[in-house]
Amino acid sequence: MIILHNAAQVITPLTGGGFRIVDRGAIAYDQDLIVFVGSTEEAIASYPSAERIDVSRKVLLPGFVDAHTHLIFAGNRCNEFLMRLRGATYQEIAAAGGGIQSTVKATRDAAPEQLLEAARADLQTMLSFGTTTVEIKSGYGLTFESEMKLLQVAGTLRDTSPQDILITFLGAHDFPREKSREDYVVELMENMLPAVAGEKLADFCDVFCDQGYYSNEQTRTIGRRAAELGLRMKLHVDELADVNGAALAAELNAVSADHLIFANDEGIEKMAESGVCAVLLPGTSFSLRMPRHAPARKMIARGVRVATATDFNPGTCFCHSMQYILQLSTLLYGLTAEEAITAGTLNGAAALGLESRTGSLEPGKQMDCLIFDIPHYGYLFYNLGSNRLETVVKRGKVLWNKKQNLR
Ligand SMILES: [Zn+2]
Repeated sequence: MIILHNAAQVITPLTGGGFRIVDRGAIAYDQDLIVFVGSTEEAIASYPSAERIDVSRKVLLPGFVDAHTHLIFAGNRCNEFLMRLRGATYQEIAAAGGGIQSTVKATRDAAPEQLLEAARADLQTMLSFGTTTVEIKSGYGLTFESEMKLLQVAGTLRDTSPQDILITFLGAHDFPREKSREDYVVELMENMLPAVAGEKLADFCDVFCDQGYYSNEQTRTIGRRAAELGLRMKLHVDELADVNGAALAAELNAVSADHLIFANDEGIEKMAESGVCAVLLPGTSFSLRMPRHAPARKMIARGVRVATATDFNPGTCFCHSMQYILQLSTLLYGLTAEEAITAGTLNGAAALGLESRTGSLEPGKQMDCLIFDIPHYGYLFYNLGSNRLETVVKRGKVLWNKKQNLR
């Protein structure tokens, strides 16, 4: 048993609602699980023989949950970013042979070891910003063999990485150039999905349902097939246009609908009724310099659970840092600091079906805890662009420390 005590603040959202701030707080944990969160006096009185670690002048938060990443890919698209700064749009870049397809080509050509090495380095960078749980999507292969290669790399990461990792099959990220759209949907339905489900290569199935990508009918067909095979759905929807994707996510009983920049009111209502989490990606709309951002305030007002994530990918948001995403979610969406922390921790966990295990500092949950060298949690927002994280504890073990860069 270990007690972290004398923290300036222990900060956490609460499962079931609410937000807790404990001044001069403490956390007691046994191996990988939290047994107590509360005042320092009470912790010491309750567990007098526990080992004590003084965390004076530090703020403790739950580990960040990054519920939407495209972590496994080869190459980079730095040049496209520079093109966009000169005024080119996402659609123009795609029409010029860039966009997803350029990453698809590089990723198909890459050996699994090369993908693994790059992904490991990115996971380590994410850890240094406090991300302790990561969702990883496939989707830069778009052939049976290359999608399976990506899922296998993701499986190796899940088995060997310090972070908790969930895997999403996103074979329907785009259409491959060498097949008709109809033939590729058949390939997804008849070959890819059964293999993914049969070999348990993924936890979720995702489809990019948007203008110019998968139609609602194609998405519905794929979603139903995935459900038959026991895979829960996530959806990329309403990012480029209002395609009624939010309502479709509710209809398919998706665990989350992601992006949602153009989601309409009716769809938002349906998400709230069906308990579909929204995963909002402020780094993406910001990085693309879009004139609008997801209507997070409206979603919260209607009772949708809002999570935020990086959307880490080589094209539209090359961002490792959940701290940056939390800051953007306050400045672009108008979230309060407490809402932003909840979105990047507990609601991210809910969007991955992990709410009972992680995402908050509460007894019975994993000891996934961040120790920040700040006097108040407001500094996470007030101190723009900095990284004041000092230590990352995952399942009760120190995984990363600023001074030693431990892992
Ligand atoms: Zn995405």
